[in-house]
Amino acid sequence: MKTLISGGTRGIGRATALDCAARGWPVALNYRGNAAAADATLAAIREAGGTAHAFAADVADPAQVARLFDQAEAALGGLDAVVVNAGIVEQVMPLAEMTPERLDRIVRVNLTAALYQAREAARRLPDGGTIVFVSSAAARLGSPGKYVDYAATKGGVDTLTIGLAKELAPRRIRVNGVRPGIIDTQIHADGGEPDRVAELGPTLPLGRAGTAAEVAAAITWLMSDAASYVSGAILDVAGGR
Ligand code: NAP
Repeated sequence: MKTLISGGTRGIGRATALDCAARGWPVALNYRGNAAAADATLAAIREAGGTAHAFAADVADPAQVARLFDQAEAALGGLDAVVVNAGIVEQVMPLAEMTPERLDRIVRVNLTAALYQAREAARRLPDGGTIVFVSSAAARLGSPGKYVDYAATKGGVDTLTIGLAKELAPRRIRVNGVRPGIIDTQIHADGGEPDRVAELGPTLPLGRAGTAAEVAAAITWLMSDAASYVSGAILDVAGGR
């Protein structure tokens, strides 16, 4: 399955890329600017015998998203699957303290960009293709005092998942989402909480944070034929949270 993964070079996206490659699926990986991480992920996949390409693009820019899909299709000879994964948080704070610029950035990168990617996927995927959106448990928890802006965008992603699943069902394109809980990646440092995984892990129902590989396993299962009758589903991968 020829797969495009946005934000596919670090964290959950990287783990998903490795999982795809292990299944023999060629991948096109997108990232924003960290070329060293992209190179490292490409090298890991190629050393394991997989096929991978990486393309820099800001998914919040519709022209760059269109170019990214062009590049991915050219590199892989078409696309069968898209994982809409790129996402950001910013410094934790109450909503009252957030600037309009920050709110605009969070909405553009997490929600508008998901719509841009979904639009290209809807235009280009063949009948029988598949899309997985990476949402967040924040969509149902709301993240009060930390990042309600981020949580609200992920609520939008969940609604997009439900609507697009119905819209594309006549073409047998399955559309699903995953809602990770607290997963051990660098995103928490970006929110000013580098110790979030260590501090909150023991308080979670399963007694620990999750790994990117555990989320990737859910994503690739949803993409796979094993989930052939699953569409419009949003799978919590949150350790019971
Ligand atoms: P991460 O480790 O910070 O990796 C983020 C990836 O997204 C990087 O490849 C980054 O590229 C890319 N990216 C960021 N902004 C982009 C943009 N504007 N255009 C293109 N690429 C962009 O993040 P993660 O923790 O794996 O998170 C992945 C997804 O899971 C996100 O949607 C996040 O909201 C969601 N999630 C994460 C957690 C968690 O606890 N980690 C929990 C729930 C949901 P560069 O390397 O070039 O910066």
